[in-house]
Amino acid sequence: MTSTKNALASVTVVIPVYNERDNIAELLERTLRACRALGRPWELILVDDGSRDGSSDLLATAAREHAGEIKVLLLNRNYGQHNAILCGFGAAQGDILITLDADLQNPPEEIGALVAKIDEGFDVVGSVRQDRQDALFRKVFSGLINMMVRKSTGVKLRDYGCMLRAYRRRVVDAMLSCRERHTFIPVLANLFAKRVTEIPVGHAERARGTSKYSFVTLINLQFDLLTCMTTAPLRMLSIVGAAVSALSIGFGALLLVLRFAYGAEWAGNGVFTLFAVAFFFIGAQFVALGLMGEYIGRIHADVRERPRYIVDRIVGETLGERNESTVGRPHASHERHS
Ligand code: UDP
Ligand code: MG
Repeated sequence: MTSTKNALASVTVVIPVYNERDNIAELLERTLRACRALGRPWELILVDDGSRDGSSDLLATAAREHAGEIKVLLLNRNYGQHNAILCGFGAAQGDILITLDADLQNPPEEIGALVAKIDEGFDVVGSVRQDRQDALFRKVFSGLINMMVRKSTGVKLRDYGCMLRAYRRRVVDAMLSCRERHTFIPVLANLFAKRVTEIPVGHAERARGTSKYSFVTLINLQFDLLTCMTTAPLRMLSIVGAAVSALSIGFGALLLVLRFAYGAEWAGNGVFTLFAVAFFFIGAQFVALGLMGEYIGRIHADVRERPRYIVDRIVGETLGERNESTVGRPHASHERHS
């Protein structure tokens, strides 16, 4: 098994589905064709994220028709795309995990190319949408977000929004052992990946139906992304506060000098000085808030219980044990791993 390990690495494709009734037939047909062409063991997991348009029945029927190939997980209500994917990951058995949207914006035909990249030794393979077919405001928005993520994670990927992605099993295990409720999978994955790359893929307009993200849910998603990635905004409070206080000291000193130069009339008889004093305290309050933010940030980090590290390999055996690659988990057991 070890000599042909790569050739045999099995694949799980996970697709979240929320009210995609009209897309399911084509989605299944194209995805199954792409999977069968892989020439290795594979499974297709569809997670129904509480659809109310009959998608669940279509999926359940498909699972019965393609027994041994398709598994369907039906959630009792809508938990959001990223939670649905994590649910699929929890049930996946493959060594390589692929995610993909159900609306056929990501061509399933690219699955083979993603798998090939993982075989090359990458832990995470993202994809960059060529000629992206979305509304202009989505593209501009997404450009800004991508820039921010690159800055704050230091991982130079170009397209975090594209969900056509592949992950190696151990990265997914690490993601599953994170306890947070709000998360953004591509960013989370980068925390645990050593080698990350991207491939260009085609992008189509949504085949049928409408986007499941309204402006408001899109904003919520960006907050998930931000808080999953960094606590920097909390720290910004301190920095901004300190800057305001420092500036107000300068402002006060300047007022003092000008007061002597031009007299009390010019300085509004002390009103401006009051401003300088007020700004100083406003700044100080921000510093205090920021300090509290530091504590909250640490609580946030601890509550998430992310694994601190992943052990890549253990070399050597002691006391007669047999070691295998393991995922480092500070708290070993977790109910998601049942
Ligand atoms: N989706 C989901 N739960 C949700 C919202 C979306 O499972 O609450 C799925 C949806 O069915 C699709 C994917 O996530 O497979 C991406 O959704 P959509 O195409 O609406 O997002 P957009 O392309 O507009 O970003
Ligand atoms: Mg879409």
